[in-house]
Amino acid sequence: MLTDLTTSPPGDTLLIIGYGMATARLLNRLADMGYPGPICVVSRENTVGYNRIQLTPWLANPDASIDLNLVNPNVMSRLNIRLLTQTDVVSFSADLHQARLSNGSALPFAQAVFATGAQPLLPTSDFKPQPAIRAFRTLNDGHFLRALPKRSRVAVLGGGLLGLEAAWGLGQLGHQVTLIHRNDHLLNRQLSHPLASLLANTFTKAGIELRLNSQISRIDSDPVLTGVTLNSNETLPISCLIAAAGIRPNIDLARQAGLATAQGIQVNAALQSSAGHIFAIGECTEFATQTFGLVAPVYAQAEVLAQRLMGGSAQFAVSHSDTRLKISGLDVFSTGQVNHPKAQVLSLVDHHQQRGRTLHLLHNQLIGAELLGDLSLANYFNDLIRTKSPIVDNRELLLGRSQNAA
Ligand SMILES: Cc1cc2nc3c(=O)[nH]c(=O)nc-3n(C[C@H](O)[C@H](O)[C@H](O)COP(=O)(O)OP(=O)(O)OC[C@H]3O[C@@H](n4cnc5c(N)ncnc54)[C@H](O)[C@@H]3O)c2cc1C
Repeated sequence: MLTDLTTSPPGDTLLIIGYGMATARLLNRLADMGYPGPICVVSRENTVGYNRIQLTPWLANPDASIDLNLVNPNVMSRLNIRLLTQTDVVSFSADLHQARLSNGSALPFAQAVFATGAQPLLPTSDFKPQPAIRAFRTLNDGHFLRALPKRSRVAVLGGGLLGLEAAWGLGQLGHQVTLIHRNDHLLNRQLSHPLASLLANTFTKAGIELRLNSQISRIDSDPVLTGVTLNSNETLPISCLIAAAGIRPNIDLARQAGLATAQGIQVNAALQSSAGHIFAIGECTEFATQTFGLVAPVYAQAEVLAQRLMGGSAQFAVSHSDTRLKISGLDVFSTGQVNHPKAQVLSLVDHHQQRGRTLHLLHNQLIGAELLGDLSLANYFNDLIRTKSPIVDNRELLLGRSQNAA
């Protein structure tokens, strides 16, 4: 039976701050499990619970119908939920059990969940703030990028997964794109040189210009963006600059409220912050000195918290997650440790077919694997890493022969 919000004491309320991917998963699970109490969700964005991960394919394929919605229909029908969109929690007191909202109202709560995510890092050089200098994080960012004038000159800052996907998507839309990356090779956290060079060739062939070992030293943005100058002194004439060079957990509200924070809001395995009735999940959290930028641990946290809120005793633990580039026709996969300084590195590259694999071994065990062009062995290599199987023959391993592991 649903509780009538008007008759339930507001002090029973579970307050959730932010309705991004972590909250979407949490509420879907609470609806499945029949959470009985009143919930109030305060969301800064006007669209709630959408799939940020699909924003890059959505950008690159305006004609495809890509469903971004993550909210199960039974969230609104089964939960006793009140949703405030385009509203910020602006101050928060754990002791007083009260939050203040940007609409001026005060909201009492019994328990609260910070699911405030992270914000993209903007370029460090001075610039005049304007819509054409922005990140690619929200649906609104996506709408802005889709509406750019034809054949715009765009620079994307950051050659990680998000930067590559954004650059590719903008290239697909017909814009003239330059990708600026501070490292000497693309995807330097996921790939070593051989496969990163193959990837760079693919980008260059697709018409995307690359500037590696490069940083922005000046942004000409007054009154409007006209260009950026790189540390090489080259000036790129551009009308749009997209920052995709890292994120910072949204912890200011929690810090002001006196909750323990470092890089993120510090939580224990029960997802409790330093105040036992205040929880945190998602990219705003820090668990055992680790912060998060991929959705798999975020969803795992939401699952644990849902169980806890239903009276269970689940515990969150960090588990290994692999990464894949989401560019249609360009398969890239990376798993495990691919930057270990003592690892033995084996590479097999087929320049003609634009595919290859690089494996990282330590003490006769596979510790990391990179694949480009053909991901058929992704699960096999993942299993070898997870099970720490002793490797019998490196050459056989590189060829993907499964009888190789003992
Ligand atoms: C374009 C893009 C592609 C991605 N691709 C991948 C991928 O391929 N694989 C992968 O694993 N991950 C990917 N990610 C990362 C993934 O989207 C994030 O890990 C995930 O969204 C984190 O969820 P979250 O709920 O912690 O944060 P978010 O989804 O950012 O939600 C946080 C919400 O809280 C709101 N908020 C913040 N402060 C307040 C406040 N004070 N009051 C009210 N509301 C507030 C924010 O506005 C936001 O709506 C991608 C991200 C982007 C942007």
